[in-house]
Amino acid sequence: MSKHTTSTSAARQASKPIVFCDFDGTVTLADVTDRILEELADPSWRELEAAWVSGMIGSRECLERQMALVNASSRQLNSLIDSIAIDPGFASFYTHVEKRGLPFYILSDGFDYVVRRILRRVGADGELRNGKHLFTSAMRLEGNRVRVSFPHDAKVCEHGCATCKAAIIRRLKRGHQPVIFVGDGLSDRFAVEESDLIFAKKQLLSHCRKNKIACLPFETFGEIEATLAELFGTEANRKQKSSKPLGIGTHTRVSFAD
Ligand SMILES: [Mg+2]
Ligand SMILES: [Zn+2]
Repeated sequence: MSKHTTSTSAARQASKPIVFCDFDGTVTLADVTDRILEELADPSWRELEAAWVSGMIGSRECLERQMALVNASSRQLNSLIDSIAIDPGFASFYTHVEKRGLPFYILSDGFDYVVRRILRRVGADGELRNGKHLFTSAMRLEGNRVRVSFPHDAKVCEHGCATCKAAIIRRLKRGHQPVIFVGDGLSDRFAVEESDLIFAKKQLLSHCRKNKIACLPFETFGEIEATLAELFGTEANRKQKSSKPLGIGTHTRVSFAD
């Protein structure tokens, strides 16, 4: 690649938003890992969950030990995964970000197999399905036992994450603004510290409110799509607007929570 091409593409990306999104409980309405554990694991998984919630262990150790308690056939696993409902606005939102050319990444403590199988239902393809924009834990079934691995970080991060969302965002956000994050849970608490515009629900919303992190509450992706369309609009109406429509910039968090 020539120097000229490199600098041109860097300039083009300079103010381009980038979108990072949690999967379980955000794209799906339920947390798939929790459902797998509830239905297919020894009940002692709940003790490990409590240890993670209290901060005694990281999500990596928690998931490794919890998934070792699962005893399931691939048929049972697939039928459970196929029963998980998806946010009714997600397919349209995904089409919207694709059309706008906004880079869109899914970051999840959940498992590649699960995420891909569910994304197939909403017709997601390209970089999301081929794994280039998908950062998850990995799993495979050996007999009725689940083996897990963490392909994106050989080393455990300072939070003990299964997939360190904060580290991935730090790595990928350079040259992009604002950094948009969509999530629902405790596994997103470190990610929001690296983000400028946060859409939050459930435990993540409580976490943001408790820690005075500005965010936009949401219930469905329909609301997020509408907000992004309003903020970043079409090419035509973007030119008509003033250069700083809502004062969003790096480290400027939009403060319309509540
Ligand atoms: Mg989640
Ligand atoms: Zn981490």
